[in-house]
Amino acid sequence: MALYNTRLLGNSEESISYCVELINNGEVIGIPTETVYGLAGDALNPAAIYKIFEAKGRPQDNPLIVHISKMSMLEEIACYIPDIAYTLADNFWPGPLTMVLPKKDIIPLQTSGGLDTVGIRMPANSIALKIISQCKKPLAAPSANISGAPSPTTAKHVYNDLNGKIPAIIDGGACMVGVESTVISFEDNSIRILRPGMISEEDLKKYAPVIIDKGVNEKIHENEKALSPGMKYKHYSPKAEVYVIDGELVAFNNYVRNNFEEGTFCVVFDKDSSLIDFPHLTYGNSSEENARQLFDKLRELDDIGAKTVYFRCPLKDGVGLAVYNRLLRAAGFEVIKL
Ligand code: AMP
Ligand code: MG
Repeated sequence: MALYNTRLLGNSEESISYCVELINNGEVIGIPTETVYGLAGDALNPAAIYKIFEAKGRPQDNPLIVHISKMSMLEEIACYIPDIAYTLADNFWPGPLTMVLPKKDIIPLQTSGGLDTVGIRMPANSIALKIISQCKKPLAAPSANISGAPSPTTAKHVYNDLNGKIPAIIDGGACMVGVESTVISFEDNSIRILRPGMISEEDLKKYAPVIIDKGVNEKIHENEKALSPGMKYKHYSPKAEVYVIDGELVAFNNYVRNNFEEGTFCVVFDKDSSLIDFPHLTYGNSSEENARQLFDKLRELDDIGAKTVYFRCPLKDGVGLAVYNRLLRAAGFEVIKL
């Protein structure tokens, strides 16, 4: 793989034009979005797509989300767009919602992980939108982390993972949402949530009945077909063993006391901090705060050398379901109910 002297750039017009030129020459760049940082490349160029998979070490059958900056791009890449997709685009785009639609041939199979569908979204980040519109083409942009590691929510996270593997990263500050987009598909008259995110079941059911795919909360077995291929991989994991502890604070404290060893850390809500007797980090109080802080805390656990981590379980509604879904995967589905 090519070695690069990775440049960490500000978000000036000059940096943006420089990155647009690189992308149009088939390179891949770290860019901010409102969800997590993306590793952006020309979605229509198989050589650029190859570089994305190589830099991340991503399994080839894990499809990339294609990012657009205007509605006409949607019509260029999807061959059938139901009315409900237009309604949702009106209400949630630009924003953290990815719609899976049948793809046109212009999207190479490398981008769609061999599927005849493609996940599409219009991000709500002015830098990302500028880059896509100046490139004048849709950009594939999976999370800009090494496959399996926690997703990056700052330019520094991207640099730590991809230094030397890509030519540049644009620093747009910390991501507002902090977890990846909600991924949905359409069937009959329903919306199926394949991956939960900031746009929640509650938000979507105003427009059509919503089904939560089994893969959101349950482990998909080797021989089962995953409707959302990314959900079958171990993901978001720090080096430590992670456990999700579902119970009240008193029971949580007792459980940790009985299982405490050298290298044990807890991750709790801010409001628990003064009531916890063990080394701990906090990840906010509301589900929105949990979402914004989760991946940064997972990375910090590695930095402090945590060996075992007990997380207080987030709420499971709204964006809380997305936090729970990511934690389940970080924990290899180890949930302890107290
Ligand atoms: P990432 O780019 O790392 O956020 O991962 C994108 C995820 O979106 C994939 O791992 C899939 O789970 C999902 N996805 C993307 N495209 C499709 C598709 N065509 N069909 C189903 N799921 C998709
Ligand atoms: Mg990812």
